[in-house]
Amino acid sequence: MIKVIVVGGGAAGMMAAIAAAENGAEVTLFEKNEKLGKKIYITGKGRCNVTNDCEPEAFFENIVSNPKFLYSAYYGFDNKRLIELIENEGCKLKTERGNRVFPVSDHSSDIISAFNKRLKKLGVKIILNTKITGLIIEDNICVGVKASSHNTPPERSSNNDSKKSGEIFRADRIILATGGMSYPTTGSTGDGIDWAGSAGHKIEICRPALVPFNINEEWVKELQGLSLKNVSAKLTAGKKTIYSGFGEMLFTHFGVSGPLILSASSFYAAFMEKHKDYKEDTKLKLDLKSSLTEEQLDKRLIRDFEKYSNKLFKNSLGDLLPSKLIGVIVKLSKIDPEKPVNLITKEERNHLVSILKDLTMTVGSTRGFSEAIITHGGVNTKMINPSTMESKIISGLYFCGEMIDADALTGGFNLQIAWSTGHLAGESACC
Ligand SMILES: Cc1cc2nc3c(=O)[nH]c(=O)nc-3n(C[C@H](O)[C@H](O)[C@H](O)COP(=O)(O)OP(=O)(O)OC[C@H]3O[C@@H](n4cnc5c(N)ncnc54)[C@H](O)[C@@H]3O)c2cc1C
Repeated sequence: MIKVIVVGGGAAGMMAAIAAAENGAEVTLFEKNEKLGKKIYITGKGRCNVTNDCEPEAFFENIVSNPKFLYSAYYGFDNKRLIELIENEGCKLKTERGNRVFPVSDHSSDIISAFNKRLKKLGVKIILNTKITGLIIEDNICVGVKASSHNTPPERSSNNDSKKSGEIFRADRIILATGGMSYPTTGSTGDGIDWAGSAGHKIEICRPALVPFNINEEWVKELQGLSLKNVSAKLTAGKKTIYSGFGEMLFTHFGVSGPLILSASSFYAAFMEKHKDYKEDTKLKLDLKSSLTEEQLDKRLIRDFEKYSNKLFKNSLGDLLPSKLIGVIVKLSKIDPEKPVNLITKEERNHLVSILKDLTMTVGSTRGFSEAIITHGGVNTKMINPSTMESKIISGLYFCGEMIDADALTGGFNLQIAWSTGHLAGESACC
């Protein structure tokens, strides 16, 4: 019987362990935390958007980095098979807006329980509280892992195994599923990416993605708490547009967040990867009135100004903008707030239109890994066989999940990457 070790008990690792056990392997799953799936617990705001019930084309359209690398993994184990697996373990799922799939209970813990049940049924040996510290590689073959001591007393481990520091575990195949670097408090600290690099694999720089932006302009802080729907955003680096999209966003005490901004941040990370020496400013440009052309917006302003002809400029924008935004727009327009509306010139109105159609901010930085939903970068996909997830340079070593340089937009796609690559790694490790 083939012996398989899986390192990391997140989405990819649990799935890899299940697939390997289903294919007849004797599987041991190591997790440094006190329980499996700590990150899954916080996904989807505690509801776990477990996958997206879309057609394959839409799945690949939502992958930001290396979609082609994922073809075999996804077609081998897609959203439909995942849904079947979870529901067969008694956790019913529902599909919401945007084809996002959640447990009917709205509790991510039910997803984790379904996986725990399956692992138990298949007899996977789960060793918790045990941090793997490195790989054992002999003649370019991975033959085992080194473990450190338990983080907590052995009696709290699932199988009461007491491990001494430096203990070695050997197996025929090793699957790494240690995740990326985002939300490190969940256990994802990039360990496997470091080992892969030390073993000779090319590593793409890890960058936070699906992450809010810090904005340099002070006036943004005045908008804290303001959420905008139906806004168009563009992210530019010099003359190049890195991202353009439409949707919802939120102003915060540090800058901007919300679905539209998170999507923009993934393209920001991809741009920074391609242009490592880029030092100029990156600008975020909002079109606050995207349903109107400049001419239409101008006409709308003329109408509003006629309606409020006896008012001061600062009191004339209530029909057009949310109240929180008015003060900032008035300030940026450089029109005297106390000026009677009927005295506003065409030039002043034109400038106001340009601000509303092109509200520009400077991206200072991202909020970093502690607030990033995913990691962009990781093990270079050219170092991995896409049909098996095995390393091309170290045999017997497999990769899956977020530690690979493949990531997606929000909507359940990132977890599906973990499920699909985990399944392929587990299945292939038994051949
Ligand atoms: C707040 C938040 C919300 C999210 N919401 C969603 C969502 O709703 N839908 C979606 O599709 N995606 C979501 N994601 C992204 C998704 O959770 C990840 O892409 C996915 O969990 C990655 O799975 P993984 O198994 O590759 O890695 P991880 O989940 O990071 O698992 C890696 C595991 O390996 C363990 N480990 C690491 N190093 C060692 C070691 N040395 N020894 C032993 N164990 C080790 C870690 O403790 C961890 O349990 C969200 C992410 C965050 C942070």
